[in-house]
Amino acid sequence: MLYLHDQFPALYEQLLPDIMQQTIPRETKANCSNCGMTQRDSALGAAQRHLFRADTKCCTYYPRLMNYLVGGLLQDERPALGEGKRRMRERIHSRIGVTPWWVASSLLDQHLYNHAKDSFGKAARLRCPYYASDEGACTIWAYREAVCSTWYCKYEAGKDGLNFWVSLKGYISLVERQLSRYAMLRLDAELVLDDAMNAYYGQEGLTQEQLDGEAPDEALYARLWRQYAGREEEFYRNCYEIVSGLSALDVQKILGLDGRIKSIDVQRKLDVCKETELPDRLKLNPQVTMRWLESGEIALSAYSEYDALALPGIVYPMLVAFDGRQSLAETRRTLQREYQADLADEVLLALYRYRILEKAEADRRPASPGLPPFVIDSAAHHTSDPRGP
Ligand code: SF4
Ligand code: SF4
Repeated sequence: MLYLHDQFPALYEQLLPDIMQQTIPRETKANCSNCGMTQRDSALGAAQRHLFRADTKCCTYYPRLMNYLVGGLLQDERPALGEGKRRMRERIHSRIGVTPWWVASSLLDQHLYNHAKDSFGKAARLRCPYYASDEGACTIWAYREAVCSTWYCKYEAGKDGLNFWVSLKGYISLVERQLSRYAMLRLDAELVLDDAMNAYYGQEGLTQEQLDGEAPDEALYARLWRQYAGREEEFYRNCYEIVSGLSALDVQKILGLDGRIKSIDVQRKLDVCKETELPDRLKLNPQVTMRWLESGEIALSAYSEYDALALPGIVYPMLVAFDGRQSLAETRRTLQREYQADLADEVLLALYRYRILEKAEADRRPASPGLPPFVIDSAAHHTSDPRGP
């Protein structure tokens, strides 16, 4: 078990104590220091339909770092963050994607990310500017944002784990947005009230300057930054000072009703992850993708194209017995009778968490005869934007 605050920038421990004191399952299957998604020859890699480049891993994503996280990074004197600070200062100096609200990608990079096809984890062009390829590490780890803090390629609790982390991403994204706006409001209300951000981001298409990687024009940049133009680093540090000085109660008020609703959703999804009881009826998910491996095992996946479960080949015909018409206990008796075998509780739980078996409602009508039991290695579950906004 792990505390949630171990997963996030340190300042959240004091700002969001209710959420951050929760214990969570450790995501041991996503071993980032020895990334299985880059290892074609390992047992884990062999079971995957998609593998990532070793010099990007899953960091083919450009984070949007809120003003106070940028400030936190810049004020942090730990030597390990020196390279991250250098990269961030280079970025600020370029003025591209640099606003009082955040430091983000250029609109060109955003466009490429949004329109890239089957490139996540594969295209060097999409590599994060804070990723150190030589070490395979993030240079700004202590101040990473919501998406980077919550994304995994695999989840201990399968689909339920994915649901939890996605919910948490939504909550922390709200926290980031609101705290960042709050800091702007405190420093200069016009930074929030003026619609300069819309002028910057709201236009259709890409301009010549954006295509050629040039800074925004002087007038727009001056309007965006007001008295802080040329003093961006000072501004970001001030934002960090303001946000890190807030109490948990202050943050609750700033987040309001939306924060409350989202935090309840996070809690519920976390509770489901810890649940070990199986539904009374299970049926084989017709959308399961199945591949035979050289080892004689089968790799099954359903909830994610990055997470396959490798099982002995003997399990394959047994899964078809799960048609949702019998209770779980009855199905297990059928397996014992017809295969002289059973599936252990933990295997059934894994099959359910991966949604290879899914919950079935009580229904004793005959199963539809034309339904194919498996999708053989199809791209049916491909998502082009795995990290999402
Ligand atoms: S989360 Fe990313 S770095 Fe970690 S194991 Fe998965 S692909 Fe590799
Ligand atoms: S900020 Fe760090 S974790 Fe996030 S994409 Fe970049 S290198 Fe990866």
